[in-house]
Amino acid sequence: MRRAATYHDTRGADASRPAFTDVVVRGIAPGGGLYVPDELPALTLEEVLALGELPYWQRAAEVFERFGVDVERPRIDALMQSAYGLQWSDPRIAPVTEVVAGMHVLELFHGPTSAFKDMALQCMPLFFSESIAMQQARGTLAEDYLILVATSGDTGKAALAGFADRPHTRVAVFFPADGVSDIQRKQMVTQAGENVAVFGVRGNFDDCQTAVKAAFADEAFAGELREEHRLRLSSANSINWGRLLPQIVYYASAYADMVASGGVVAGQPMDVCVPTGNFGNILGGYYAKRMGVPIGRLICASNENKVLADFIATGVYDIAERDFVTTPSPSMDILVSSNLERQLYELTRDAGRTAGWMASLRETGRFQVDRETFRLVREHFSADSVSNDESLACIRRVWDDHGYLLDPHTAVAWEAAERLAGADPVLVVSTAHWAKFGTDVYKALAGIAHADPLPGDVAALTGVELLAEVQRLAPDGSCAPRALAELDEAVERFDVVIDAGHAPVIEAVREWLS
Ligand SMILES: *Cc1c(COP(=O)(O)O)cnc(C)c1O
Repeated sequence: MRRAATYHDTRGADASRPAFTDVVVRGIAPGGGLYVPDELPALTLEEVLALGELPYWQRAAEVFERFGVDVERPRIDALMQSAYGLQWSDPRIAPVTEVVAGMHVLELFHGPTSAFKDMALQCMPLFFSESIAMQQARGTLAEDYLILVATSGDTGKAALAGFADRPHTRVAVFFPADGVSDIQRKQMVTQAGENVAVFGVRGNFDDCQTAVKAAFADEAFAGELREEHRLRLSSANSINWGRLLPQIVYYASAYADMVASGGVVAGQPMDVCVPTGNFGNILGGYYAKRMGVPIGRLICASNENKVLADFIATGVYDIAERDFVTTPSPSMDILVSSNLERQLYELTRDAGRTAGWMASLRETGRFQVDRETFRLVREHFSADSVSNDESLACIRRVWDDHGYLLDPHTAVAWEAAERLAGADPVLVVSTAHWAKFGTDVYKALAGIAHADPLPGDVAALTGVELLAEVQRLAPDGSCAPRALAELDEAVERFDVVIDAGHAPVIEAVREWLS
């Protein structure tokens, strides 16, 4: 086997040089840093273009192999075929659609949960499970893993779908009982699988996350899980390198497809515009650029929670006095954008400085990068923020002008792309199917402001019934994916709602496991 690549962490605390399968299971490094590869592979233009000849699973396998993943190639192939197989509603997996000359949409929503998190979470759990099996076979691990997830909506369902019935894993998801849409809740509580559990939490997403974090930090609970259930805890959240690597693949794939379709001339750069929350998706684009995919500007599109757009404009990341705003794009409603740490480290390759900025953020709620780092940020990134009503107006306008229906997250990116695009073709990254966020898409098409309520008769509909109303307003738009359209008939398996807090979370897990 070729030499396995090794990893280090952004705060310089882990000297053990773990391989890919190790960092997937560890998630975060000791000391709180994030794992990054010691070296990035390089792809020639010819190699990028050659990907266009392959089915998607093989494009992914090629990139994983180049990253020195410590799994034999035939096994990588098998895992990738399983990750990017028939559960996708489009055999191209991540197709590119030219909506209007020069504006291309990379559709990342054809997976089983209709949001882009499937791109990573259909893949990463396979390596997670593989890694545990490898460690158990070596005799270095005796337990299986329990993954705890706090979710504001998309991540929970994508994690459930990814980990369901994966050997050596169990997954428990906690969501704010009144903080997710009807469709999002039904997606989660109808999840099949022997190793999954779903709990509603009384409170908002923050309460949910705080409670789950407290459970993680509880060493007595960890001891009990090991003794009584032979389980260790992990989180599988978006800072996990195993979620980032699959997100590099689709930028290379999209470029190859755009050259093949004539959307870009081989070698000419494309700009990419990404609706951003935790900075994971756009960071995949940065890595692809560094590896040789011809990408010009990386445009970071923020909603009204615009801490990232402000950072890219000023070099100051400041959440000390920032209020959390509710928007039509909830998966981007984030204050602490956790993958930004990895980006800053990659720009500077300086663990000391990176650790210093993160300490400052923890202690004072802000940090400011130095001039040279800011120059590097500006060299690669542009940014803009889009208000709630601007994003809804964009959905309406793109539908009226081009007959293409955007979800509210993608609309933020489309609007930013239109404002900031230069002469090169733009790839707008679409992160959700419109049907996943039907309420705000309905408001957009009906000319209702985000803050205003739906008319009474529409408000009384289930999330699924509302989709038919959207399709009445946008008759030639794409249909709702079948998995969403059938949710009202699906059997709800999980109905437990618990109080927010450390003790109720632990009690819920205990009861489930016993
Ligand atoms: C998670 C998510 C995002 C944000 O992606 P990041 O990698 O956190 O920047 C955007 N849109 C949708 C629909 C998502 O689910």
